[in-house]
Amino acid sequence: MRYVFAPPPHAAVRIVGSTGWFPVHRVYCVGRNYADHAQEMGATGREPPFFFMKPADAVLSVAEGETGVLRYPSLTRELHHEVELVVAMREGGTNLSQDDAERCIYGYAVGLDMTRRDLQSEAKKLGRPWCIAKGFDRSAPVGGITPAAWIEDISKVEITLDVNGIRRQQGRVADLIWKIPEVIAHLSTAWDLKPGDLIFTGTPAGVGSVGLSDLMTANGTDLAELRVRVMRA
Ligand code: MN
Repeated sequence: MRYVFAPPPHAAVRIVGSTGWFPVHRVYCVGRNYADHAQEMGATGREPPFFFMKPADAVLSVAEGETGVLRYPSLTRELHHEVELVVAMREGGTNLSQDDAERCIYGYAVGLDMTRRDLQSEAKKLGRPWCIAKGFDRSAPVGGITPAAWIEDISKVEITLDVNGIRRQQGRVADLIWKIPEVIAHLSTAWDLKPGDLIFTGTPAGVGSVGLSDLMTANGTDLAELRVRVMRA
């Protein structure tokens, strides 16, 4: 195939303990998947999971030991952090069973579903799409991916987010309303999942604003630390 101009580089994420890269196909995100966060956003109960997407090239890959740079996005005065467990898929399919779903997982990382909260609140009020609030450039910082085989029991993993050394968010994967295999099975009823898909599984309570020069440090038990500093645009 001859392209009429050079295609942009493929989005990819670093892998822990490997010089290889994980090529990103799509980025799926689950809304309201922890009860405490659902409450802080004004919802209740176990409603069916809902999804939104970010463009693959919104991923900001940050290797372990490095500090990623997130330029403060335009159009917002309320840039929010949402720390999430990210599932990286090595296989896909449609209408996957929960058992199939588990076998399709390549590994896990911590990620930040960065959000222009002011624009999201406005979109919700007006019944408009969330793209501008959720899918902006570099809105998806992701730490190094740890292969699934290295993690004994994903449900025992705890994720945390500190801003300038102060704890803001903390959640246990065991407390996800929709468990990881359920999320993958659900997603696969709506889309043909592919190798390279990333799934942001939802954020616990404590979402909040970050500003210029703030350092976000996201961690998950047995996962690579993700450090991101907010800088002037
Ligand atoms: Mn989120």
